Amino acid sequence: MNKQVSKEHSLLIAACLFLLSINASFAKQIAITFDDAPLVGNKNMSGLQKTHQIIAHLTDNQVDDALFFVTTGNINSNTDRQRLAAYANAGFHLAHHSHSHLSANKNSVVKYLEDFDKANSILESFKGVLKYHRFPFLHYGETAKKRTAIHAHLAKHNYKIGYVTVDNYDWYINSKFLAAQKAGLNINYDNLGQLYVETLWAGIQFYDDLAKEHLKRSPKHVLLLHENELAALYLGKMIEHIRSQGWEIISPQEAFDDPISSAYKPAQFHFNKQGRVAAILDSQGVEKRKLRHPSENTEFIDKLFSIYQVTKNTD
Ligand SMILES: [Zn+2]
Repeated sequence: MNKQVSKEHSLLIAACLFLLSINASFAKQIAITFDDAPLVGNKNMSGLQKTHQIIAHLTDNQVDDALFFVTTGNINSNTDRQRLAAYANAGFHLAHHSHSHLSANKNSVVKYLEDFDKANSILESFKGVLKYHRFPFLHYGETAKKRTAIHAHLAKHNYKIGYVTVDNYDWYINSKFLAAQKAGLNINYDNLGQLYVETLWAGIQFYDDLAKEHLKRSPKHVLLLHENELAALYLGKMIEHIRSQGWEIISPQEAFDDPISSAYKPAQFHFNKQGRVAAILDSQGVEKRKLRHPSENTEFIDKLFSIYQVTKNTD
């Protein structure tokens, strides 16, 4: 090998190593999680039907694992219990999202933890439960003292925080859809699906871009969804879209192994409701207004319904 070739050769190796390091730090990996299970159904889609459709989307698309955060107060019948068992039987996992969906910011530590303990004991009768707690409303407690006390209680019971990295307003899109359906409006389901997928994807990119800009890496992401009608209708479409962008769906347990899982400091982290990436950046002094995607806003979603022409009668 002459000198010139050898120099080119080592430049090529350096370039490859650089690209590899970029790939490693910008992982493009995301786990799927659902809150508030088992959410009640309606006359157009029963709760059980919703569960079957969500499971079908996951299994048809070979998603190995997903985590369903259970609000145990939503378990009101044998069917509700069967729905949770169905997720576990299909190989997915359940976790803890409180009993009464209390806000840790608006209730005392004692009340919050009583409710936590109640959910914990109810979950003991289910299989496939992982000890992750997701705070309702992503409210971790409004004071350092409260956050520290709650965190100590979770740790004592071997719970880790089931944080999210990608927040969104899927719940509001769903509520608008249900209201339109109830009002008997003519719904364009293709347009609704497109709105759902594109809005959630914009949120994923937004929080990933924030991480890349400020943390200089892309963490293993955790997508927040709700166990709602839109997930039952469009989860498959969402999964396909994520993969079409070169991303990989990973298990929630793998995502929660990311270094950002241990970044939470109860005393310092007072801003948690936009997810873990935003919480870390807030603790580093990044302005709050930069930490929230525009679609996390009801008026913005109202406009999207009009732009995407979801119903004929939207103005
Ligand atoms: Zn919730």
